[in-house]
Amino acid sequence: MKIICIGRNYSDHARELGNQVPSEPVVFLKPQSAILSHKHPFYIPEWTQEVHHEVELVVKIDRLGKTISEAHAPRYYSEVSLGLDLTARDVQARLKAKGHPWERAKAFDGSAVIGQFMALEQLGKDVQDLSFTLTNHGNVLQEGQTKDMLFSVNRLIAEVSKFMTLKVGDLLFTGTPAGVAAVQSGDRLVGSLEGHDLFAVNVK
Ligand code: ZN
Repeated sequence: MKIICIGRNYSDHARELGNQVPSEPVVFLKPQSAILSHKHPFYIPEWTQEVHHEVELVVKIDRLGKTISEAHAPRYYSEVSLGLDLTARDVQARLKAKGHPWERAKAFDGSAVIGQFMALEQLGKDVQDLSFTLTNHGNVLQEGQTKDMLFSVNRLIAEVSKFMTLKVGDLLFTGTPAGVAAVQSGDRLVGSLEGHDLFAVNVK
Protein backbone atom coordinates (compact mmCIF):
# COMPACT_ATOMS: atom_id res chain seq x y z
CA MET A 1 0.00 0.00 0.00
CA LYS A 2 1.00 3.60 -0.33
CA ILE A 3 0.17 6.78 1.53
CA ILE A 4 -0.67 9.64 -0.79
CA CYS A 5 -0.49 13.08 0.80
CA ILE A 6 -1.78 16.42 -0.39
CA GLY A 7 -0.02 19.65 0.52
CA ARG A 8 -1.60 23.12 0.81
CA ASN A 9 -5.23 22.02 0.48
CA TYR A 10 -6.55 24.70 2.86
CA SER A 11 -5.81 28.31 1.95
CA ASP A 12 -5.40 29.43 5.59
CA HIS A 13 -2.61 26.86 6.06
CA ALA A 14 -0.89 27.71 2.74
CA ARG A 15 -0.85 31.34 3.89
CA GLU A 16 0.50 30.63 7.38
CA LEU A 17 3.60 29.01 5.82
CA GLY A 18 3.97 31.77 3.24
CA ASN A 19 3.08 29.46 0.34
CA GLN A 20 0.92 30.39 -2.62
CA VAL A 21 -2.48 28.76 -2.96
CA PRO A 22 -1.83 26.07 -5.60
CA SER A 23 -3.62 25.86 -8.96
CA GLU A 24 -3.32 22.05 -8.90
CA PRO A 25 -2.92 19.73 -5.88
CA VAL A 26 0.57 19.34 -4.38
CA VAL A 27 1.12 15.56 -4.13
CA PHE A 28 3.76 13.57 -2.24
CA LEU A 29 4.06 10.05 -0.80
CA LYS A 30 4.93 8.44 2.49
CA PRO A 31 6.06 4.79 2.62
CA GLN A 32 4.26 2.12 4.62
CA SER A 33 7.17 2.19 7.11
CA ALA A 34 6.08 5.73 8.10
CA ILE A 35 2.97 4.43 9.86
CA LEU A 36 3.14 4.86 13.64
CA SER A 37 2.05 1.57 15.15
CA HIS A 38 -1.17 1.66 17.05
CA LYS A 39 -0.78 2.78 20.70
CA HIS A 40 2.94 3.45 20.31
CA PRO A 41 4.29 6.83 21.43
CA PHE A 42 5.91 9.16 18.92
CA TYR A 43 9.59 9.73 19.67
CA ILE A 44 10.91 13.03 18.30
CA PRO A 45 13.91 12.05 16.12
CA GLU A 46 17.26 13.44 17.25
CA TRP A 47 18.01 15.00 13.83
CA THR A 48 15.22 17.58 13.97
CA GLN A 49 14.38 20.39 16.38
CA GLU A 50 10.96 21.12 14.92
CA VAL A 51 8.39 18.39 14.19
CA HIS A 52 5.05 19.98 13.31
CA HIS A 53 1.65 18.36 13.77
CA GLU A 54 -0.64 18.45 10.72
CA VAL A 55 -4.05 16.92 11.41
CA GLU A 56 -5.79 15.71 8.24
CA LEU A 57 -8.83 13.83 7.05
CA VAL A 58 -7.66 10.42 5.78
CA VAL A 59 -9.61 8.53 3.13
CA LYS A 60 -9.18 4.77 2.66
CA ILE A 61 -9.30 3.57 -0.95
CA ASP A 62 -11.31 0.36 -1.17
CA ARG A 63 -11.36 -0.29 -4.92
CA LEU A 64 -8.70 -0.54 -7.62
CA GLY A 65 -8.79 2.32 -10.11
CA LYS A 66 -6.99 4.48 -12.64
CA THR A 67 -8.14 7.68 -14.39
CA ILE A 68 -11.20 7.88 -12.16
CA SER A 69 -13.60 10.69 -12.95
CA GLU A 70 -14.67 13.06 -10.21
CA ALA A 71 -18.25 11.81 -10.65
CA HIS A 72 -17.21 8.18 -10.13
CA ALA A 73 -14.76 8.88 -7.28
CA PRO A 74 -17.32 8.22 -4.47
CA ARG A 75 -17.38 4.54 -5.52
CA TYR A 76 -13.72 4.22 -4.49
CA TYR A 77 -14.04 4.93 -0.74
CA SER A 78 -16.49 4.43 2.08
CA GLU A 79 -14.41 4.97 5.23
CA VAL A 80 -12.52 7.94 6.62
CA SER A 81 -10.35 8.69 9.60
CA LEU A 82 -8.01 11.36 10.89
CA GLY A 83 -4.26 11.24 10.74
CA LEU A 84 -1.21 13.28 11.57
CA ASP A 85 1.21 14.14 8.79
CA LEU A 86 4.16 14.75 11.12
CA THR A 87 6.64 17.03 9.40
CA ALA A 88 10.22 17.96 10.30
CA ARG A 89 9.69 21.59 9.36
CA ASP A 90 13.32 22.65 9.86
CA VAL A 91 14.52 19.89 7.53
CA GLN A 92 11.74 20.63 5.03
CA ALA A 93 12.75 24.32 4.94
CA ARG A 94 16.32 23.32 4.11
CA LEU A 95 15.17 20.93 1.37
CA LYS A 96 12.72 23.45 -0.10
CA ALA A 97 15.45 26.08 -0.27
CA LYS A 98 17.55 23.71 -2.40
CA GLY A 99 14.59 22.55 -4.50
CA HIS A 100 15.04 18.99 -3.20
CA PRO A 101 12.35 16.37 -2.52
CA TRP A 102 10.74 16.31 0.93
CA GLU A 103 11.13 12.66 1.97
CA ARG A 104 13.63 13.33 4.78
CA ALA A 105 11.13 15.73 6.32
CA LYS A 106 7.90 13.86 5.61
CA ALA A 107 8.53 10.13 5.12
CA PHE A 108 10.45 9.17 8.26
CA ASP A 109 9.42 6.34 10.61
CA GLY A 110 6.42 7.30 12.71
CA SER A 111 5.54 10.32 10.59
CA ALA A 112 2.12 8.93 9.63
CA VAL A 113 -0.31 8.65 12.52
CA ILE A 114 -3.53 6.99 11.41
CA GLY A 115 -6.65 6.77 13.51
CA GLN A 116 -9.49 4.30 13.58
CA PHE A 117 -11.63 4.35 10.46
CA MET A 118 -15.34 5.11 10.43
CA ALA A 119 -17.82 4.47 7.68
CA LEU A 120 -19.21 7.67 6.17
CA GLU A 121 -22.58 5.97 6.45
CA GLN A 122 -22.06 5.70 10.21
CA LEU A 123 -21.15 9.39 10.41
CA GLY A 124 -24.25 10.13 8.36
CA LYS A 125 -22.63 13.11 6.66
CA ASP A 126 -21.14 14.09 3.36
CA VAL A 127 -17.34 13.81 3.17
CA GLN A 128 -17.16 17.58 2.48
CA ASP A 129 -19.27 18.39 5.55
CA LEU A 130 -17.09 17.07 8.40
CA SER A 131 -15.56 18.94 11.34
CA PHE A 132 -12.37 17.82 13.05
CA THR A 133 -10.01 18.96 15.78
CA LEU A 134 -6.59 18.21 17.15
CA THR A 135 -6.18 18.78 20.87
CA ASN A 136 -3.29 18.56 23.32
CA HIS A 137 -4.39 17.64 26.85
CA GLY A 138 -7.77 19.07 25.90
CA ASN A 139 -6.48 22.37 24.43
CA VAL A 140 -7.46 22.89 20.80
CA LEU A 141 -4.43 23.13 18.48
CA GLN A 142 -6.15 22.85 15.08
CA GLU A 143 -9.74 22.96 13.90
CA GLY A 144 -10.84 22.07 10.40
CA GLN A 145 -13.91 21.80 8.23
CA THR A 146 -13.66 19.61 5.14
CA LYS A 147 -15.86 22.12 3.26
CA ASP A 148 -12.84 24.47 3.29
CA MET A 149 -10.66 22.13 1.18
CA LEU A 150 -9.39 23.81 -1.98
CA PHE A 151 -9.65 20.47 -3.83
CA SER A 152 -12.43 18.13 -2.73
CA VAL A 153 -11.81 14.46 -1.94
CA ASN A 154 -13.42 13.47 -5.26
CA ARG A 155 -11.30 15.97 -7.18
CA LEU A 156 -8.14 14.69 -5.44
CA ILE A 157 -8.96 11.10 -6.39
CA ALA A 158 -9.49 12.19 -10.00
CA GLU A 159 -6.23 14.17 -10.08
CA VAL A 160 -4.04 11.54 -8.41
CA SER A 161 -5.49 8.63 -10.41
CA LYS A 162 -4.55 10.40 -13.65
CA PHE A 163 -0.94 9.40 -13.05
CA MET A 164 -0.98 6.77 -10.27
CA THR A 165 -3.09 3.61 -9.96
CA LEU A 166 -5.06 3.58 -6.73
CA LYS A 167 -5.07 0.24 -4.98
CA VAL A 168 -7.22 -1.29 -2.26
CA GLY A 169 -5.86 -0.15 1.11
CA ASP A 170 -4.10 2.97 -0.15
CA LEU A 171 -4.59 5.97 2.12
CA LEU A 172 -5.12 9.55 1.05
CA PHE A 173 -4.11 12.32 3.49
CA THR A 174 -6.08 15.33 2.30
CA GLY A 175 -4.11 18.28 3.71
CA THR A 176 -4.11 20.24 6.94
CA PRO A 177 -5.94 23.39 8.04
CA ALA A 178 -4.13 26.26 9.80
CA GLY A 179 -2.60 26.00 13.25
CA VAL A 180 0.41 23.78 12.64
CA ALA A 181 3.10 24.04 15.33
CA ALA A 182 5.92 22.05 16.88
CA VAL A 183 5.12 19.06 19.08
CA GLN A 184 6.85 18.77 22.48
CA SER A 185 7.76 15.86 24.67
CA GLY A 186 4.85 15.34 27.06
CA ASP A 187 2.16 16.26 24.55
CA ARG A 188 -0.88 14.03 24.25
CA LEU A 189 -2.36 14.65 20.82
CA VAL A 190 -5.94 13.56 20.21
CA GLY A 191 -7.70 13.73 16.85
CA SER A 192 -11.50 13.97 16.86
CA LEU A 193 -13.81 13.72 13.87
CA GLU A 194 -17.38 14.85 14.45
CA GLY A 195 -16.82 14.28 18.16
CA HIS A 196 -15.33 10.78 17.81
CA ASP A 197 -11.79 10.43 19.17
CA LEU A 198 -9.97 8.45 16.46
CA PHE A 199 -6.35 8.61 17.62
CA ALA A 200 -4.36 9.54 20.72
CA VAL A 201 -0.57 9.85 20.57
CA ASN A 202 1.86 10.50 23.40
CA VAL A 203 4.95 12.46 22.31
CA LYS A 204 8.29 11.57 23.88
ZN1 ZN B 1 0.17 17.55 5.43
